[in-house]
Amino acid sequence: MNPRANVLLGIQAATEYLKAQGIYIKSRRDIFASVKVISSYITQKGIAIDAEKTRRHYERVLRNDIRDFYNQEIEVGEYIDAMIGNIENQFTRAWHEGAENVGFMEDISAHLQPVMEYIAEEENYILDLGQQILDAAAAGDPVQQFYSRAELWSNRYNEIVNEAEIYFGKLIGARLIWQLGATEEHCATCAALDGIVALAEEWERLGLHPQGAPNDKLECGGWRCDCSLFETTDPLTEGGIPSV
Ligand SMILES: [Zn+2]
Repeated sequence: MNPRANVLLGIQAATEYLKAQGIYIKSRRDIFASVKVISSYITQKGIAIDAEKTRRHYERVLRNDIRDFYNQEIEVGEYIDAMIGNIENQFTRAWHEGAENVGFMEDISAHLQPVMEYIAEEENYILDLGQQILDAAAAGDPVQQFYSRAELWSNRYNEIVNEAEIYFGKLIGARLIWQLGATEEHCATCAALDGIVALAEEWERLGLHPQGAPNDKLECGGWRCDCSLFETTDPLTEGGIPSV
């Protein structure tokens, strides 16, 4: 499902929700009130309007906390809390988004174990990064070096979405198509996989997934990979996933 289809679904669901809340749009003021209700509904349900927007948001919050810690505007405890919050919020949101993208409509609360593991793994890096920030601040090295780190970290948002699509797609027998992202240069592996349609289960069995750095199945290592898996009704690629 492409992001636009997702928006439509979100609006549809939100409209139903508004009706159930007894909100009918008559004036401009109602519209503002409704938009507020819709956005909080969308956030609650974890419906993503635009994955790239969400990734950028994640990058921004990481960056802000890194900068504040570097400038000693927050102390170490606050830095840790903030980073934990960022990771938990964004990873959970990405996990919901992936489930929605493949049309998994059931309650996902019984399926949170994998994302908890990704979260726990990611949280391992918080202290190390914090130490590097402190060292850089003490040495008078610029904070900008950590901004590219925030960008790399934020790419895990897309990774979790893709992982969720494989996970939930497998549960409902969905087909997923590999699509190249906007990166100008693509590695040979990603280029060979572009446009391939296979069952989520197959992608999982071969261990092929976008991002996931360090990803030893991709020539690019997954570091700056911005490929995606999308749910599709296109026919399965004949001969299956090529060996790459
Ligand atoms: Zn890629």
